[in-house]
Amino acid sequence: MGCATPQRAPFSTALDWVTRSREYKAVCLQTYASALEKVAAAAQKEPGPWAIVMDLDETVLDNSGYQRDLETKGEAYSQESWEVWVLKKEAALVPGAKEFISKVRALPRARIIFISNRYARNTNPTRLNLEKLGVAGANDIYMLRKEKADTKIIRQKEVLEGTGRMVKHGAHRVVAWFGDAAHDMPDDPKLKWGTHKFMLPNPIYGNWDE
Ligand SMILES: [Mg+2]
Repeated sequence: MGCATPQRAPFSTALDWVTRSREYKAVCLQTYASALEKVAAAAQKEPGPWAIVMDLDETVLDNSGYQRDLETKGEAYSQESWEVWVLKKEAALVPGAKEFISKVRALPRARIIFISNRYARNTNPTRLNLEKLGVAGANDIYMLRKEKADTKIIRQKEVLEGTGRMVKHGAHRVVAWFGDAAHDMPDDPKLKWGTHKFMLPNPIYGNWDE
């Protein structure tokens, strides 16, 4: 057609989709808008302690900056470079997460529990990153990973039963689960997509890629 060959973007399609597309943003906003309605309605029916459980990375925190660094350097993910990134506290926000979280906090007796595979030793920098973004709350509970064997299944159970790390807080009814990976939600057929569990898009990494 006589046009110049389009310049190939320097980053992967997955990263460009997350950082540049209106569609990624729309899916996130759509998910959180719909979740807010469901959570508000469900919370009203809860007589006792209730919570929402949220994953952090690519659910609340946007780590596309880390991915950009990796692709620029031609490196693959490593635990070492990941921890350097976590300590920098430079993660941004997934679209819609901040508004959603602040509206949930305004609901009576709301509690937000973060179950993340970030290591528990990095709870403080993680909290500071969330504070910087204006999404940290004084009564949030952080259930980060103690060691490799400390799976999300174990921590989900502690939340639901009020055992282990949750003894001091007691058992919570979880009205909704949020994540970007299947393992962020308990494997329970009673939990329905779009009602009790909400998935955010992450085309950059996941178990599907391993
Ligand atoms: Mg995640």
